[in-house]
Amino acid sequence: MSRIAYVNGRYVPHAHAMVHVEDRGYQFADGVYEVCEVRDGKLVDERRHMERLQRSLSELRIAMPMATNSLRVVLREVVRQNLVGDGLVYVQVTRGVARRDHAFPTTPVKPALVVTARNVSRAKSDAQAEAGISVVTVPDNRWKRVDIKTVGLLPNVLARQTARDRGAREAWFVDREGFITEGASSNAWIVTAAGTLVTRSANSGILRGITRTVTLEAAGIAKLAVEERPFTVAEAMAAKEAFLTAATQIVMPVIEIDGKKIGDGRPGPVALALRARFHDKAEIGD
Ligand code: PMP
Repeated sequence: MSRIAYVNGRYVPHAHAMVHVEDRGYQFADGVYEVCEVRDGKLVDERRHMERLQRSLSELRIAMPMATNSLRVVLREVVRQNLVGDGLVYVQVTRGVARRDHAFPTTPVKPALVVTARNVSRAKSDAQAEAGISVVTVPDNRWKRVDIKTVGLLPNVLARQTARDRGAREAWFVDREGFITEGASSNAWIVTAAGTLVTRSANSGILRGITRTVTLEAAGIAKLAVEERPFTVAEAMAAKEAFLTAATQIVMPVIEIDGKKIGDGRPGPVALALRARFHDKAEIGD
């Protein structure tokens, strides 16, 4: 089966899915994106992802490329045409195509819309969660608007490569004060010795992850103590558990930070329980 992508109004074979060289996403990273989990062919937390997409776009003064309901139809169609059971759907909106000039185009251009989807093995992800993953820490050298989900991801790309070079799966950014902000493409969490779940507040320095929001709700229902506050690398290393959240990872236990084992060096019960219960709390589409 050949993959299909949606590009500016057309469903095209993946190999022929092209955007113009003067697309502002290509030249300036002037655009935003969303990644939504697909489970059993259904979109997970689509409403929240659409709301965040709308927010990211409005922060950059880019119009929604089409009505949300129409976009939902396109997402479903791309998932369907690619025969995605478990996997992800990717949506990218850029300001559009215009002669290269840093300021916004003076004559209105249509925002450019790309949607792709692909399968991701649930068994592989579950096996990884059972084993746990390693993370490394890197200085957070990103701009201050990381609350906007822009395609300007170069620091994240370099951080993830550093993780790979050091044999780890993810990199956790550390701010100037020594507090962990978030991962290259995930939110960071710990469970303290007292059993309190800690994750940085979404008010500064991080993207408000959808998986983070749903995990906070699940933790509340499970009557777990939760604190939304920054935590240092030292606190994370001394924690009972650590884990990360992202739409493509769900809740992923972290067993090692910069080579230091967390807790007993195995995935923790809180992380595994939150992972197991996640889809009871998430909104599963039709
Ligand atoms: N932070 C960053 C920097 C990310 O790229 C992501 C993944 N898109 C997240 C956090 C997690 O967000 P979500 O749970 O919505 O996937």
